[in-house]
Amino acid sequence: MSAMGRISIRISGVVQGVGFRPYVYRLACQMGLKGTVQNGPDGVLIEIEGGFPVDFIERLRAGAPPLAQITGVAVEKMTQGSNIYKDFRIIESSQDGGFSTPVSADITVCPDCLRELADPEDRRYLYPFINCTNCGPRYSIVKEIPYDRMNTTMAAFNMCPDCKAEYTDPANRRFHAEPVACPACGPSLSIAPELYGNSSKDNISLAIKELKEGGIIAVKGLGGFHLACDASNGAAVAGLRRRKRRGNKPFALMVRSVTEIKKFCHVSSEEEKKLCSPEGPVVLLRKKDTCSLPPDIAPGNKWFGFMLPYTPLHWLLFNHKESDGMDVLVMTSGNISEEPIVIDNDEAIKKLSDIADRFVLHDREIHARVDDSVVYSSPGGHFSFLRRSRGYAPGRIELGRSGPHVMGAGGDLKNTFTLAKDSMAIVSQHIGDMENPRAHAFYLETLDKLKRLFRVQPEAIAYDMHPAYHSSSLALDLDIPEKIAVQHHHAHIASVLAESGHSGKVIGVVLDGTGYGPDGTLWGGEFLIADALDFKRAAHFKPIPLPGGEAAIKEPWRAAIGLLSSAFSKDEAIALALKAGIAGRYSEEELIKVLGIAKRPELSPLSSGAGRLFEAFSSVLGLVDKNTFEAEAAIALESITEDMEGEYDYYIGGMGALDFSMAFKQAIIEKAAGGRAAAISAKFHNTVALAVAETALRLSSETGIRHIALSGGVFHNRTLLEGVLKRFSKAGGIQVLTNRLVPPGDGGISLGQTLIAREKLVK
Ligand code: ZN
Ligand code: ZN
Ligand code: FE
Repeated sequence: MSAMGRISIRISGVVQGVGFRPYVYRLACQMGLKGTVQNGPDGVLIEIEGGFPVDFIERLRAGAPPLAQITGVAVEKMTQGSNIYKDFRIIESSQDGGFSTPVSADITVCPDCLRELADPEDRRYLYPFINCTNCGPRYSIVKEIPYDRMNTTMAAFNMCPDCKAEYTDPANRRFHAEPVACPACGPSLSIAPELYGNSSKDNISLAIKELKEGGIIAVKGLGGFHLACDASNGAAVAGLRRRKRRGNKPFALMVRSVTEIKKFCHVSSEEEKKLCSPEGPVVLLRKKDTCSLPPDIAPGNKWFGFMLPYTPLHWLLFNHKESDGMDVLVMTSGNISEEPIVIDNDEAIKKLSDIADRFVLHDREIHARVDDSVVYSSPGGHFSFLRRSRGYAPGRIELGRSGPHVMGAGGDLKNTFTLAKDSMAIVSQHIGDMENPRAHAFYLETLDKLKRLFRVQPEAIAYDMHPAYHSSSLALDLDIPEKIAVQHHHAHIASVLAESGHSGKVIGVVLDGTGYGPDGTLWGGEFLIADALDFKRAAHFKPIPLPGGEAAIKEPWRAAIGLLSSAFSKDEAIALALKAGIAGRYSEEELIKVLGIAKRPELSPLSSGAGRLFEAFSSVLGLVDKNTFEAEAAIALESITEDMEGEYDYYIGGMGALDFSMAFKQAIIEKAAGGRAAAISAKFHNTVALAVAETALRLSSETGIRHIALSGGVFHNRTLLEGVLKRFSKAGGIQVLTNRLVPPGDGGISLGQTLIAREKLVK
């Protein structure tokens, strides 16, 4: 590089809204450089004049702010102009350029801001909207790029002179912090309905008082409303469950600190780090035997989902001045009947008034709905996503190589969609259950936003080949030229391939609820030989009839009868169902009726779903006969399981079909003879793990393929996954690939569909 002239440096990656420009500024000043730095639609653009110190880029990379992710650095020599800069400065954003700049996900309140929040001398003392370049809302408030205040919902607030001074001072932590605000100029809290004659106007104290009295409060957060109640108050928890008509679905919890969580749950150092991370997800943690919280928070479940306060407003609920603050709160999504989370003040009051006694509102508009993310520590030695949303979306996933603009429409349950361009994929936040008409609107508003923010125009869209999926008919209606139908379980495996960058063939094991198979039956216990382009079904769980179809998915006892009827004579099936106690919970008459339905193929679709198998087993053990939320019976089964050796029998039938009916029979007999459910469940888990591992290893040695990819929602079952992994490692020579960046469940399939669409376009 010559000593004179100017150079430009384009930095791409996550470099906006993460304190990158102030960082470049400080580094350039330290090194005595002259020039400029600015945000642009294609990243951050730096110009430097009068020489180029070789170590600038090295130092730029090495000391980048914690939330920045640099994916590209392009240096170019500029032909025109020199001696035009007297110093180094940050300049206004440039609108030129056609590339993409990822917008950062929302970030939990940082330690520096919390210190100021608690400092009576600070001008933001107890101010619920304190933030800085290292923390605060991002994706949830940005409407357009570049990420500048005028393009966010903070545009409605004019900075006061004090905030402006911080915003423009390069030495300040709030230098170009777009959502900067203070009590004099920023958003403010309000409470509804207002308390008559309230003169103190201390809305947080009022909310705390009401929570302590057992009330239910709707609180406007970062990506939507929460419904909160005192989690140590059993009546309040039961009341919230009743009012929300939530069945047994677990509630998430929030406490002041990790120390508090340790009163209730076991927390490893890895889990502690995850709880305290800038993403701040809900982490599923194993309950302690001494846990004093009402079990009704998560009935029949050995885990509680905990998160820490991630906005200053949350923090104040636990640490307010005059009162003590709360100890532990239920913080569940503010929505009704599985609709998308509510974000708007009026909408909240309209929809949540039957549930919440009072509303803590504010006037900073939420532009994107973003639910809390949920993760857990996996036996694979990493964290897995149950839901990837706030803090992670719209973070990019690297696909390793460049490709055309494409989209994956996702599935119908736990929907997400994915956009891809160049070498990156953007997975949307959790959209939810597409059966819900409101989810459609949420889907379309999010698609519109992400297409604009990331400048993506898909040439092709991949969708699930299930003819009745709402996500599929929606995909077919979108104005995208090419439509590609993708098999559900192929998409699951492709999601692992997309994450891992593995490009060859794999043995793909998908253990799942149900997905549409090309033969018209429901699949879900699948062994595929697959790559990103195609797949072949090499083995599968033996299909069982689901008496009444959808009804048997909601009521696992019907699936249990379906299984027994398909494997045993009518008399033996009845005898086993009686022994299992099903007739005691229903009636012998009902049992015989369902047995009759199971024999009629037109009323009882066949399913090889592994999820159905675990749920049917949960029912024969007398744990859960009816699901009030997805996978309830399977979670209850895993929750009682103890760690022990031993298996039942399984058989391999025609077409490599794994048959577990003998395990059911052996378990029912053992249970009737007084066997412990915890031990019987352990042996069942071991049986399935053994069958899965043996089948995958057999296919591996038959084909010479040493990579085995595991996906599907049933792999959320840690006992099962651990059993399978243990057997693989004993066998040796196997490379196991699992989902780490997206959920193994249906929240991950849009990424897999996207990869398949790219491959098909390129071919
Ligand atoms: Zn901060
Ligand atoms: Zn201000
Ligand atoms: Fe699935």
